[in-house]
Order: sequence, then C-alpha cells, then structure tokens
Amino acid sequence: MTAPAEVEATKLIAEGSRILYEQRVLDAFGHLSCRSPVRSDSFFISRSLAPALVTAEDVVELDFDCAIVSGAPDTRLFLERFIHAEIYRRRPDVQAIVHSHATAVLPFTLVKTARLRPVCHVCGFLEGVPPPFDVADHAGPSTDLLIRNATLGRQLADHLGDANVVLMRAHGYTAVGGSVQQAVYRAVYTIKNCEIDLSSRVLGEPTYLTAGEAAACEATTAEQVRRTWDLWAQEASSGGFRTQ
Ligand SMILES: [Zn+2]
Repeated sequence: MTAPAEVEATKLIAEGSRILYEQRVLDAFGHLSCRSPVRSDSFFISRSLAPALVTAEDVVELDFDCAIVSGAPDTRLFLERFIHAEIYRRRPDVQAIVHSHATAVLPFTLVKTARLRPVCHVCGFLEGVPPPFDVADHAGPSTDLLIRNATLGRQLADHLGDANVVLMRAHGYTAVGGSVQQAVYRAVYTIKNCEIDLSSRVLGEPTYLTAGEAAACEATTAEQVRRTWDLWAQEASSGGFRTQ
C-alpha cells in the first residue's frame, strides 16, 4: 500500500467506518471495504476491530481468496470477509461494500411476506432488492448464520445479483456502491427506508415508488452523495462516539 491512491483508500475506510458507527449502521460489529484503486483483484478492509476504532493503520489488503496481500501475515481478520471477496469477484462494477446488523432492517429479513422496496425519493437504489438470503437454504438449519467461507460468500453474491442491497435472514444486510461514499449512503438510507415503511403502516398500506420513479430518483441522489458524506464526516470528526 504505497501508491497515493492506496493510502487515500485506507483513510476512506477509517473515515467511513467512523461515519457508519455514528449513523448507527454499525455497532461493535459490521464492516466497510473498498476495492483496490490500483488493481481490480484485491480489496481493502480493516483487521477485526470495532468500526469506531478503525484507523488507516488497521486496514489490510486481501485478494479474493481472502489471503493477505498487504499487512502482517498474522493479522486477525473478520469472520465474514468472504462477503466482500465474493461480491467483488462477481460484480466488477462494485467498488465498496458495507455489511451491517442494524436492527431497524432485521424485520424485513424475518417476515417471509415482507419485501424491502423503495418508499421515498432518496431510496430509489432499493428497487430490485431480492427476498432475504437464507443461510439455511445452503448450509442447513444448524449454522450460526454467518458467511464464514467462500462457498457461502459466493451463494450470497449470486443471490444479490445485480441489486444494490441483499438482506440476510435473522442477521442483517449488505449494501454495495460504486464508491465508498455511495456504499455508505446506501447503508444509511436502507435503515431510513425501513423505518419509514414500518411507521407508515400505522396509517395503512404504503405506496411504494414505481420502477420508473426509483430509477429517476436514484439518478438524482447519485449526484448528491458527496453532500451526505461531507456532513457525516464532519459530524464524526467533531467529537464522535455518537455525539449528535
Ligand atoms: Zn454479519
């Protein structure tokens, strides 16, 4: 990790991890990664560490078999690093990934008839989210539900398909983006969409965006992602540890 772009990527992982903690996407668990800016077959991710504590020095580079490319050979890695490796392998368009256990999203992973659909104009990226991925369908009924190996990672990546978010039963979700900023934005607004959807049900059945509206809204918000990042980064750097 010596190229300026690589150094910048490690800083983005640290800054993004702090943002995701402050925005309540991550707590002690969950992680953010980005594809290497100088080679397409590796990615940057923190060593196993609570996201709010991540610094640029904690970031390591892994290949798609999760072998360490840059970093100490004995570095302790996240159990679920295979989520990232296999999505990068399957989706060349994906440049960054967030994996979260946010509780606001969990109901949409548990109820078989529930679908995560875009409910407001800043969440068009949720169009096309598939039904929840269920580890039990692939590894039986007695696992800890984690994506602990490349096989489950590949099956999860296949389930994600071309969508921007994949739900994981009784576990959480994973959001992808064309940049760290976009992946973080999508992870944050997935939670907001779930909260709005559930709260509106007090009044009745919500009206979701049409596919055309979702596409138009996504084209608009994709240009606005930088504004959210700048705000959240400032909030995270001015005190931190959920001061807002
Ligand atoms: Zn997880």
